[in-house]
Amino acid sequence: MTTGLDTFWRKVQRWTTNCFSATPTRILSVESCLPPVSLLITHRQRLAALRVVCSPRSLKPATARLPPSFPPLSAHRALDSSRALTRGLSSVYLPLHWKTPRPVPPMRTHLPVDAVAHRAIPFTLGLSRMPMINSHLVCPTPILPPKSLMDSTYSALKRVREKLLVEWASLFPTSGYYLHPPALHPRPFMGLGKFVAVRIYEMRAGNSYLAAHPTWRSPDADTSCPRCGLEPETFEHAILSCPSRQHSRSRLLHGVTDIGPEAPLWSSLPLLKRLAAFIGVTSTGFPPTMFPPTTPPSSPRFLSRPPGCPLRSFVFFRWLRYRVVGLLFFILCRLPFFDD
Ligand SMILES: [Zn+2]
Repeated sequence: MTTGLDTFWRKVQRWTTNCFSATPTRILSVESCLPPVSLLITHRQRLAALRVVCSPRSLKPATARLPPSFPPLSAHRALDSSRALTRGLSSVYLPLHWKTPRPVPPMRTHLPVDAVAHRAIPFTLGLSRMPMINSHLVCPTPILPPKSLMDSTYSALKRVREKLLVEWASLFPTSGYYLHPPALHPRPFMGLGKFVAVRIYEMRAGNSYLAAHPTWRSPDADTSCPRCGLEPETFEHAILSCPSRQHSRSRLLHGVTDIGPEAPLWSSLPLLKRLAAFIGVTSTGFPPTMFPPTTPPSSPRFLSRPPGCPLRSFVFFRWLRYRVVGLLFFILCRLPFFDD
């Protein structure tokens, strides 16, 4: 069921990536590194539970009000009478053992805080006592837990994130053509220029201006590459194998030989900068009406040295050409008909 929050969250994902509205929502979620709302809520609840059970009782009121059966490191505990302040329920109160899940449907005789600790059980791996975190918040004479317990706390946080990624991949699988795994950190190419980063997002998602990525408005459009006409213009063809882009590829795209999900390109900033330069020069993935595809000259006279020409002669004649052009411009500006 789609809720208003889901709709708003998809707008956030689209705002993050600037992908088309027709981009599949699951792919959009993976590209933007923003999990679906239902998973994100569960993830945040787990983090909150872990924060509650691992905090010092003397500093966090919620921890001091955990069920009496909960095993903390410190003996401090809020008075049971103070639990009534958070209750607001009937006068009959049954404490819930912290290892017992909350009954479904929830009973009014159990406090919500009693079920919080139970959410953290899968990530503590059987610890008998909950360690403390945020030691800098403890009073000047802290009694810190052993380092092993503190390491286990951070390991539990890591396991919570891994659990989210596993559930994300299994409960919200993407289409067969999209194989990039979900991640919680922004993609490195997000730091590139805005227009280039958008082109990469769109081409990875399979919904872009490339000819092989038709939209629902034109499902029967010709998918062959408009520049070479040899193959469908897919992301891989446009970047790695299109013959009409070979000149720019050999000049700018050194080291980029794969664009698959495991390719080093997606984690290497130097390679991403080369890809960005290639996309910018060839206008790959840009609107065809804005940047019509052009074929580069077969003999780039102004950019590279002709074959067989010595380097010193090439540099000298280029310098001489610019000097002559500059001299002619200077003479033209000094002619009488430019004076008042
Ligand atoms: Zn081509």
